[in-house]
Amino acid sequence: MNAKERMDELYELIDHHNRLYYEEDDPELSDYEYDRLSVELRQLEEAHPLLVRVDTPTRSVGGGVKRTLRKAAHDVPIVSLQDAFSKEEVDAFVERIRKEQPGVVFVVEKKIDGLTLVLRYRKGVLEEAITRGDGIIGESVYENALAVRGIPRRIPEPLDYLELRGEVYMSSESFASANEQQVLTGGKLYQNRRNSAAGAMRQLDPDIVARRQLDFFAFNLEIAQGKTFASHKETLEWLKNQGFVVSPDLREARTSEEVWSAIQDIAKSRHSLNYPLDGAVVKVDDLSMRQQLGMTSKVPRWAIAYKYPPEQKETILEDIAVQVGRTGRMTPLARLKPVRLAETTVARATLHNQAYMDEKDIRIGDTVLVQKAGDIIPEVVSVVREKRPEGTSRFIMPDRCPVCGSLAAKEEDGAHLYCTGDRCPAKDSRSLAYFVSKDAMNLEGFGPMAVEALISEGYIRDAADIYRLKEQKDILIEEGVVGKQKSVDS
Ligand SMILES: [Zn+2]
Repeated sequence: MNAKERMDELYELIDHHNRLYYEEDDPELSDYEYDRLSVELRQLEEAHPLLVRVDTPTRSVGGGVKRTLRKAAHDVPIVSLQDAFSKEEVDAFVERIRKEQPGVVFVVEKKIDGLTLVLRYRKGVLEEAITRGDGIIGESVYENALAVRGIPRRIPEPLDYLELRGEVYMSSESFASANEQQVLTGGKLYQNRRNSAAGAMRQLDPDIVARRQLDFFAFNLEIAQGKTFASHKETLEWLKNQGFVVSPDLREARTSEEVWSAIQDIAKSRHSLNYPLDGAVVKVDDLSMRQQLGMTSKVPRWAIAYKYPPEQKETILEDIAVQVGRTGRMTPLARLKPVRLAETTVARATLHNQAYMDEKDIRIGDTVLVQKAGDIIPEVVSVVREKRPEGTSRFIMPDRCPVCGSLAAKEEDGAHLYCTGDRCPAKDSRSLAYFVSKDAMNLEGFGPMAVEALISEGYIRDAADIYRLKEQKDILIEEGVVGKQKSVDS
């Protein structure tokens, strides 16, 4: 492998791992392994300056600085709550506590799907903000916390020490506007609000956090030196007076029926809220009762988290199209009769490969049950066999690439097909990217990533579409979604 090939490989690798780390909060490499890739790339760049990519990651946040955040220990270990997935489990929890603590009052709260953050205030001033980490040791994200809306730097009542927990999350509006920016200027779309909030909080640049417009709900007070509270509700009331936004619409309940009906009400409102929910939390309100109930070896005995099942809907599978990706992989894609599901309209879902379609016996014309896996990517769960029309047949993957007509071959994994054509246009989005950025659009900020996003989202398929976009160029610039036109000699 020559230097150019190795550099291209490193660019791909580092881009990939930066994305996992910063956008999806899901790193595959240790910091050590990552640093070694960066060092190797930097050395190659120094030796071959003409081969340096304009947008090299060694000059941006991801590659230019060490990506480690300072570790910080928690005063109060963060333990998970006991999970419940059925009414029976919730009922059993409520009845057990009612037996031990007659007269108990429960509070039912929304469980916001974000990133848990511990805040520490000394003499009324924010001193530290720590991520959950493994529950014992987290990472300090103090600078970033200052860029989150709803985290006051200073509070009116200056206790010697205050520690509280809350959830950093991305509202529907922030998520939509971040993705608009991605489509038109940046690159890959954010798939998941939790991950983009968490990824932003791990950035080393608070400006990025500010741009992603994150918010904070306080949900539990841990330590308040010099103050005593009788109930959870009192603590939330006090936090509210200190300028925090507390988890909204807390419901009181005394019986298992009341608890369950509160959980159901939250479920109904779930997809019309401005913040993402993944469940409801049932807690004992009285703080001294909580102490008496204590903990098992793993979880507090005074709280339970009910997780909502993913929303599923029936729709018609109208067609199966075979899509060819940039690596040449041929993927069958279900075209669905559009259906509203977990906040978005779903019109297609991946069917992965022949084996997947065969196993679920998925056919064109079928009525299928769809859901979003982890409420992110739509998938076909199953076929409603009773509703299958007459005359359907098994879908068979074509033996040629639908884009260029070259023969298809099996990938090494034996499951997927790929196009063997050397000059397949589907594999060529990079040249399209060049066309967009330099010749047709003459715009800054229209890199290969943006083009890939535009293609995969169906905005552009070919050069004609790019001209169509070009006609809207002035509007795009005016609205600030893409950069200003470059001058000819720049
Ligand atoms: Zn092809």
